[in-house]
Amino acid sequence: MYSAGADDLMIVNAEVEGVAGLNVRCRDGRVVEIGRGLAIAPGEDTLDARGGALLPGLNDHHIHLFSLAAARRSVPCGPPSVTTRAQLGTALENALGDDWIRGVGYHESVAGMLDKQSLDEIRDDRPVRIQHRSGKMWFVNSLAAQRLGIETASGQLFRLDTLLRERLAEDDDLIAAVEDTSRLLASYGVTGITDATYTNDDTTEALYQRLELCQRVNLMGDDSLRTGSLKIMLDDAALPDLDDLRERVARAHHRGRPVAFHCVTRTELVFALAALRDAGTTPGDRIEHAAVTDGPTLRLLRQVSRDDHHVTVVTQPNFIAERGDQYLEDVPPEDHDTLYRCRGFLDAGIPLGGGTDAPYGDPDPWAAIRAAVERQTTRGEILGEDETLTPEQALGLFLTPLDSPGGPPRRVVVGAPVDFCVLGTRWEEARDSLGAELVSRTVRH
Ligand SMILES: [Zn+2]
Repeated sequence: MYSAGADDLMIVNAEVEGVAGLNVRCRDGRVVEIGRGLAIAPGEDTLDARGGALLPGLNDHHIHLFSLAAARRSVPCGPPSVTTRAQLGTALENALGDDWIRGVGYHESVAGMLDKQSLDEIRDDRPVRIQHRSGKMWFVNSLAAQRLGIETASGQLFRLDTLLRERLAEDDDLIAAVEDTSRLLASYGVTGITDATYTNDDTTEALYQRLELCQRVNLMGDDSLRTGSLKIMLDDAALPDLDDLRERVARAHHRGRPVAFHCVTRTELVFALAALRDAGTTPGDRIEHAAVTDGPTLRLLRQVSRDDHHVTVVTQPNFIAERGDQYLEDVPPEDHDTLYRCRGFLDAGIPLGGGTDAPYGDPDPWAAIRAAVERQTTRGEILGEDETLTPEQALGLFLTPLDSPGGPPRRVVVGAPVDFCVLGTRWEEARDSLGAELVSRTVRH
């Protein structure tokens, strides 16, 4: 699927921005000529696009690569595949291997809030740790708590990713698993990612430098990073002091770092916007998720975005498809139409980018693109009809630059980098199906 572009490359018979039958000449990683009937030069590599659309490579503006690699080796413990306690039991019973069992995607609709006792009842012969699908919480059984050296009566651990990672001593094939996951993303046409993990630190940065990945990586993380956004987690249940938060934002800005706020509730969003209003904004400031944005909050977002420093929203339309049925049950009806908005942000002039939030969402960006167009839940309900995008707008959320997820979508033009997603069909056809199977090649210099 993936091929790093040669120095001298001619892509033949491609559709570029709606024009069919074009050849695209690339030199040293840049497009130098686009035209019909361009002659292939001696020694030039060729790649036949067979009439398919040549798009810029997709950028996933919000993903957690290491967690995704781990999740792919984990047992799914929540909807849609696991919805009852019996199914959870079967899933854990059938877990491969003979030591740790790592479960992911748990939701309390399966069997309530898990604890040490309830997990022991299901499985007490192997250490079990199960992550809640919010990513905030882990449930462990007695054996797991013992092995981790953690005293816990409940078996419910909050935001302990770093601790867990250290105590579990990363296994050797983690690197191989991450690189394999990178190839999976390349098969979707993804050539750039922003790793939005809030615990990313200088160790993570060093680890990334050792990896051979198919994507360019933009890292956000904690205070120890010198570049990239400072990721700030907010939690309704434990909001920080607003003055402290404003100070933290101002300090990051002073060091040349924008901030990225995790906001999945209205309160978290309003709180983040209050801090940004007081501290002032800087280019690159962003809101991750903005899951619930009603009219007044949207106006506040616009006010905070005054001057040229527009605060960007990075949304995950795939959650409408993947979790929509659960939202219909859990979220108050008055909020249904403003969940994971898309068109509302664009109409209000708020810069908008897209991410999958994998492994908490499906890593396939085409599923997110399709969800932004259809806004249909698994059961076929439509959520937020007024928030639909055209296929071009939805694709655009993933074509914006890695360092500017709400900026103008990248284009295949002379001077553009060799960073492409080649489709097997013309766009006119592709826009009706919007699936990863459309991707025939991913090319990056
Ligand atoms: Zn995330």
